Order: sequence, then structure tokens, then C-alpha cells
Amino acid sequence: MGGVFIRRIIFDLIAVFAIISLYLWVEPPIFIVAQLPPFPDEVKIVAKPGVSSFDVSIVRRAVCLTTRLLEDNYSLALGHDIEIILVPDAFSYSVTLQQDENLSRDVSLFQGSHSFGTTNNNHIIINVGGIAGYNDTLFVTAHELTHQYQIAEAGQWNRLNWLMEGMADMVAAQVVNENTVTHGENEVNKYRFSWLTALRSSHDKPNLKKLDSKHDWLLDFQNNGAVTYRTAGLAVLNLADSRESASFRTYMNALRDGVDAEQAFQSAFGVSCSAYNQQYEDWLANNL
Ligand SMILES: [Zn+2]
Repeated sequence: MGGVFIRRIIFDLIAVFAIISLYLWVEPPIFIVAQLPPFPDEVKIVAKPGVSSFDVSIVRRAVCLTTRLLEDNYSLALGHDIEIILVPDAFSYSVTLQQDENLSRDVSLFQGSHSFGTTNNNHIIINVGGIAGYNDTLFVTAHELTHQYQIAEAGQWNRLNWLMEGMADMVAAQVVNENTVTHGENEVNKYRFSWLTALRSSHDKPNLKKLDSKHDWLLDFQNNGAVTYRTAGLAVLNLADSRESASFRTYMNALRDGVDAEQAFQSAFGVSCSAYNQQYEDWLANNL
């Protein structure tokens, strides 16, 4: 009798174990990020009427994660107060850029129809209502916030604009990865793959030399759209693969000290600009 009872219990335990295993196999456990890093004192979020509290919460999350990443991994400091102004649609985005930020009408209209985020002095303006997905809101916020850290560490820059834009996209991809619990998959690699795919379908051959000054950058963006960003993002991901994260601060601080951009690049990354351009073109030729 006792033997039958014990066999029964063992049988039940095996059944329960099998059901739990099946559940975990079908639906692996999703861990909530236990502790979000603190929200920085220097950042203030201003939501215009029509912006949802959900969008505000995603932006807050992006700010916390980006701040931690840039300060802990890249040793950067923000060191100045910034305001993040959230608007609900493309129209209010353009109006805000023109009326509140005093950007020209042309620039405001262009940004309104070609972008979701703009950095203007110590302000970041984001059209959160126009961004389709959760990760895209994280991405745009992280990208623009990285520009604020770059301004803090480098001052204003004009040369090697691809390096600053590519870095902002790389950090944004890393922030999405920090926020995403996947099972052994790295979100940054997914971005790397999709950026490469975007370049593959581009008819214009990507080239870093065409993305040097801010003027060059804008011109290329007007002609090629997202390909401009993908070219820079991949170039910086590749560069960062074999460098210390602190190299980016070394580069930016050299700019702040008045060092020429190419010299700053050489001393921070251990390769001349033209040699790196060539390396990247060779890599693209093998991978496109
Ligand atoms: Zn940017």
C-alpha cells in the first residue's frame, strides 16, 4: 500500500516537473530589470499637451540607462543642466523648433519631416508621438542624450561628424540592449546586421570622407537619408570593437583642448583618419 502511495507521489512530481519544463520551454522566464539606475539631477523632462504618460516613462527609462552607460562604461560626465521637451506630433515638433528654439524655418521644417529628435544647445526636442515603437523611443532619446555628453566633453565640433553621430547611434543600440532581456542574443548585433542590410540596398557607395563636416553630413543625409547614419554607426561599431571605451573621451577632450580633429583621432584610436577610412571601406567591400 505504502509503496503504491510513494510511486504515486513520484509520478505526480514527475508530471509537475514535466509541465513546468514544458512551460519554461514554450515561454522562457522574463526577468524585469530589478533596479533602474537613478534619474540624473541635471535632466528635466517637459511634456507638451498630448504626450502620453507612457511615452514619458519610456524617455525617463532611456535617460536613466543612457546616463549609467555613458558615465560607467565611457567615463563621461554631463556636468550641465538639460531639458528634454517632448511633443506629440510632427507639426508641434516643427513649431517648437522654430518658435521656442529659434531655429530657421527651413531647418525646422526639414527636421519636422526627416527626424524625431533634435539637440539644440542644452535642449533636446523629441517628437515622441511620431515614433512608432518602444525601442525606437529609447533609441532616439539615447542618441540625443549622447550628443549632450559629447558637447560637455568636446565643446562644439565641426570635423569628423560621422564619429559623433555614429557614436550616438552605437550608444543608442547599447541602451536598447541594456533594456532588453533576450536569451543569449545581443541587440547591438541585431542593429549591426540591420545597418549592414540597409547599406547593401543603397545605390550610393557609403564613404566616411563624405561625412566629415556638419555641412557634408547634412548634404549626404538629404541625398541618402538613413544610409548616412548607417554608414557612421557601422564605422563606429567597428572602430569600438578593438578599442577601449575610454578612447572616445580621450578624443573628445583633445578637441576641447583645441587639438585638430585628425590629430585627436590618431592619438585616441591609434590609427590615422585616412587609414581608418580605408580599413572601413575594405571591410565594407568584403561584407556588402
Ligand atoms: Zn545625432
